[in-house]
Amino acid sequence: HDIKKKVKESIDQNKKDYYIREQMKVIQKELSINGEREDIVEYKKKVTELGLPQQSQEKLMKEINHLAKLGSMSQESGVISAYLDTVLDLPWNSKTPDRIDLKKAEKILEADHYGLKRVKERILEQLAVIKLTKSIKGPIICLVGPPGVGKTSVATSIARAMGRNFARISMGGVRDEAEIRGHRKTYVGAMPGRIIHAYIQAKSNNPLILLDEIDKISGDYKGDPAAALLEVLDSAQNNAFSDHYIDIPFDLSNTLFIATANTVDSIHPALYDRMEIINLSGYTDDEKINIAERHLIPNQLQNHGLKKASLTIGKGVIDDIIEHYTKEAGVRTLDREIASICRKAATRIASGSAKTVKVKSGNLHEFLGKRKFFRYMNLDTDRVGISTGLAWTAYGGDTLDIEINVLKGKGNLDLTGNLGEVMKESVTAALSYVKANADRLGVDAEVLSSSDIHLHIPEGAVPKDGPSAGITIATALVSALTGNPTSREVAMTGEITIRGRVLAIGGLKEKSMAAYRSGVKTIIIPEENVKDLDEVPQVVKDTIKFIPCSRIEQVLEIALERPVCIDNINIVECIGQKEERGVVQ
Ligand code: ADP
Repeated sequence: HDIKKKVKESIDQNKKDYYIREQMKVIQKELSINGEREDIVEYKKKVTELGLPQQSQEKLMKEINHLAKLGSMSQESGVISAYLDTVLDLPWNSKTPDRIDLKKAEKILEADHYGLKRVKERILEQLAVIKLTKSIKGPIICLVGPPGVGKTSVATSIARAMGRNFARISMGGVRDEAEIRGHRKTYVGAMPGRIIHAYIQAKSNNPLILLDEIDKISGDYKGDPAAALLEVLDSAQNNAFSDHYIDIPFDLSNTLFIATANTVDSIHPALYDRMEIINLSGYTDDEKINIAERHLIPNQLQNHGLKKASLTIGKGVIDDIIEHYTKEAGVRTLDREIASICRKAATRIASGSAKTVKVKSGNLHEFLGKRKFFRYMNLDTDRVGISTGLAWTAYGGDTLDIEINVLKGKGNLDLTGNLGEVMKESVTAALSYVKANADRLGVDAEVLSSSDIHLHIPEGAVPKDGPSAGITIATALVSALTGNPTSREVAMTGEITIRGRVLAIGGLKEKSMAAYRSGVKTIIIPEENVKDLDEVPQVVKDTIKFIPCSRIEQVLEIALERPVCIDNINIVECIGQKEERGVVQ
């Protein structure tokens, strides 16, 4: 009896469903024109209007016909409608006219940014070529520099100068090819890739697309996103870019792509090949003050609804903020700190407790709290076993102390301070040089064999790597082993070989700017880097003395306070430089 009852119920339900479905069909038919549903007619009309190539149109029509056969309640019909909506959202035919007027473009670039002369020149050249050839072929411009130097904002200015729409694609953390090229729509939750998204956002098929942080993409087992990007950037094949989701070719060839990166080292070699690198390597304090006065402060005043007269920030205050509240190559933190001053001022003004606010060095702490940074001032009186190096990171340059202790032991070497493999090798190379030349350097062989050496680089939590600390390590080693103190005002950078040669390094501009910020007076650089000195800002060159060296013996002679015992090297020149610095012989 129970079974009979259950079967009857099930049959009744099926009958009921069938009856309703039939009713729905009739209703849909009543609603449709020429026997077709309204939405289907609409899709067909829109697709025909796009005027796509025959193959693409046929493919879309097939999808629409398939949709027509499905009931509007089915899950698949939802997927197909979403697909058709996305395809129709794409700006297949909408194109903005290029308005390239070089004089106007120059004005816009000048108005938006202070300095950056070489960058602006290069961009104007590019615009001139686009204007004459009416096409965008050739290498992709890649703006390289630490955060906050204006890469993104330069790119938006270019879009403004050309009258093009702008879209930004963040490449940071893209690991999967599908993020560039989309998932096939048979996947659950499939979506088009970031490239197609950017066009939907830009609403024109010739926008300026910024590929932000192109050095941060990485591949994994799911395929190589860099390879997919190659197709996007290759002007020979990007007129028919195929996204897995969209599945019909889309023309990217009218787009102006601009990329940004923090360093060139981690850009995929094949991508690097197609790019022209323009370096924006950071600002001097003077430039930062100018940027703050002309751009950052007026912008933040506007953002916070403040009038020019209601908040005064003096020149000296900006200098104070740069020195004590920021430590960066760009101006991003400076901008943030100015924003926080504006916020506090807005609160005072809005609450009625003040009509105007004046920020002075004396009351700066009321707005920004305690000072966070102090100019590097090495007040160590004991400079035995310490030397000052210069480091280069994606965030600009920095000074870096290397400390060495020589302890009683059995000739072990301890390294602390989060050193990378290459830096560890530098230590071994420097030690090998010192051991091999112990006699000449006045190092007691007995001490070497009966001591442990501990090398430490402060700020232990920050990973450090690279070969350019080689001569700094060797100097600290000789200083520690001979008791000869290093000079406080000398910083250095250079790779060392086990035979004592000094090899070239990268990032001289950033490093020397960091040294300038830290109050260093002399920098020892590798001879081979002399050619890079013309990139170093003039104010830095006026303040700091650069001494090129090709051998570590020269470095030691300059960096250590007392003469180093060396027999076969001509050190007259070095001694001369030392006397010039006023070091007592
Ligand atoms: P990036 O993309 O290099 O990290 P942004 O373009 O985001 O840096 O710049 C950060 C802020 O600094 C922006 O508000 C930008 O307008 C400003 N800025 C950077 N450089 C300059 C400059 N030379 N002139 C004016 N403003 C600048």
